[in-house]
Amino acid sequence: MKNLKIAIQKSGRLNEKSVQLLKNCGLDFENYKSSLITTVSNFNLEILFLRDDDIPGYVEQGIADLGIVGENVIDETQAKVQYLQRLGFGRCSLKLAIAKDSSIERLEDLNGKSIATSYPNILRNFLNEYKINADIQEISGSVEIAPGLGLSDAICDIVSTGGTLKSNGLKPFADVRSSEAILIGREGLEENPIICELLQRVQSVLRAKE
Ligand code: ATP
Ligand code: ZN
Repeated sequence: MKNLKIAIQKSGRLNEKSVQLLKNCGLDFENYKSSLITTVSNFNLEILFLRDDDIPGYVEQGIADLGIVGENVIDETQAKVQYLQRLGFGRCSLKLAIAKDSSIERLEDLNGKSIATSYPNILRNFLNEYKINADIQEISGSVEIAPGLGLSDAICDIVSTGGTLKSNGLKPFADVRSSEAILIGREGLEENPIICELLQRVQSVLRAKE
């Protein structure tokens, strides 16, 4: 039988915990980050190391069968994938933030303002839900410097401790969504016996942690 493929983050905040979870499931593999693909010696599985942004699309297209990625990225890419299991790590929240001395006080005050973000789709849905008409400035990183530079009136970004906001003269203003890492699967694969076996192992690792 052909090996299944699971895509995990190559490097970054989810890499270590994703690797650890798979090892805790009893999977034996070399963690060669430079080779981008590694074979599990004792299970029908190959591991692909990718940028997190690419993972939902790979799974949607069936290039990978499974993936581990943050909900924020799944939502932003709008990929159609199956949620198999919430993993309890990589917790963070996507928030709106404004300058410390901003005159913005309520969500409605964002009408006519501009908001910088790397999450334009999530932000657009959020603004639509609250019927707010704001201009979304999409930038790919260092979003926190945008208000100080005059690019935007607010930002929408992932905040964990708030330290980066503070050092850029910003303060959190509203929660857009929270997120954690999710084991996702290609649609229509739920009955696959190898996936069921892996999912059971993942669930027992998670239960042992409770
Ligand atoms: P890549 O190079 O794979 O694109 P990245 O820079 O986009 O990586 P990371 O900063 O490594 O991403 O974050 C990966 C994921 O970890 C985020 O999408 C989010 O789901 C989660 N996460 C948890 N805590 C944080 C945090 N404090 N800041 C950012 N992301 C966090
Ligand atoms: Zn990324």
